[in-house]
Amino acid sequence: MAKTRIGIYGYGNLGRGVELACRQNEDLELAALFTRRDPASVQPLTAGVPVYAADDLAAHTGDVDVLVLCGGSARDLPEQTPACASLFNVVDSFDTHANIPAHFADVDVEAKAGGKVALISGGWDPGMFSLARLYATSILPEGHDYTFWGRGVSQGHSDAIRRIEGVADARQYTVPVPAALEAVRAGENPELTTRQKHTRECFVVAEEGADTAAIERAIVEMPNYFADYDTTVTFVPQEELDRDHAGIPHGGSVIRSGVTGQDGEHGHVVEYSLKLDSNPEFTGSVLAACARAVHRLSAEGQTGCKTLFDVPPAYLSPLSAEELRASML
Ligand code: NDP
Repeated sequence: MAKTRIGIYGYGNLGRGVELACRQNEDLELAALFTRRDPASVQPLTAGVPVYAADDLAAHTGDVDVLVLCGGSARDLPEQTPACASLFNVVDSFDTHANIPAHFADVDVEAKAGGKVALISGGWDPGMFSLARLYATSILPEGHDYTFWGRGVSQGHSDAIRRIEGVADARQYTVPVPAALEAVRAGENPELTTRQKHTRECFVVAEEGADTAAIERAIVEMPNYFADYDTTVTFVPQEELDRDHAGIPHGGSVIRSGVTGQDGEHGHVVEYSLKLDSNPEFTGSVLAACARAVHRLSAEGQTGCKTLFDVPPAYLSPLSAEELRASML
């Protein structure tokens, strides 16, 4: 098969992650970038890649085999993925879990109308974590599921702190409680409350003269975001935040603890764990593998919306089926 020509729509952290992933895969070639901003203001990391205005997407359907949508899940993807799915084979990382069925339905109609394949909710959660849960629960029907996130930066929680009056900047880390993680790994099947599973660490830059006690109270009492967690707030100067908290690490563990035997006497613990230095670069790498699979599904004549559940694992790999069989031995 010739190289898969990749288009990237939306050039933020994730867009750059997909671009870097293309460099690591010889069968993928970055063909074009699309942005809603002035294309002249966007400088790709890769020299020579053309940058086009998103308004001109329809003029470039012949340049791209798979368009990877890298916009935000909250506002961009619910519009962009259905709008592009009748024109291009597409991949997105839509991560608003509760809205995945509705997003799937919107995209499916458009992809089928255009005779294209669309894979939604690639990434790691949803994405690789979803697959890990599916494999483990299919194999161990009697058991418990646990998902721990972190240590990692939560963009949504960091944004929520930045919206508090008197806050200039902030970074929030989600951290699993070690004792809870150990108990689950030991197969103890504990019942865990939200507070017992994760803590939240906040590094905050206060504006000059701001009431730091009021900011701290506003954070730890914030419903949904912090009130149900043990939260620590540390005020730091902007230079320290820029120096020590500039990265976007994340990760976590999906654990299934199950039993087999006549009376459930044998315990089994299955764990899939990620420790990511860069959330967007890892997510971009998953989307690149998904793009390869989408190109293959499309070449077979399939159409419509898919998730990672619908992709044969071998289609994610650059290796052929024969090469993969040989490597299992
Ligand atoms: P960013 O905020 O970096 O980028 C989102 C969009 O903002 C870009 O596509 C870009 O679109 C636009 N943008 C506007 N101005 C700028 C600017 N000055 N610099 C960069 N971008 C700009 O978000 P991320 O890339 O970090 O994340 C995108 C989404 O990925 C998240 O909303 C999240 O839902 C999803 N995600 C999913 C994961 C999963 O496991 N499923 C994991 C991680 C993230 P344009 O070029 O058109 O202006």
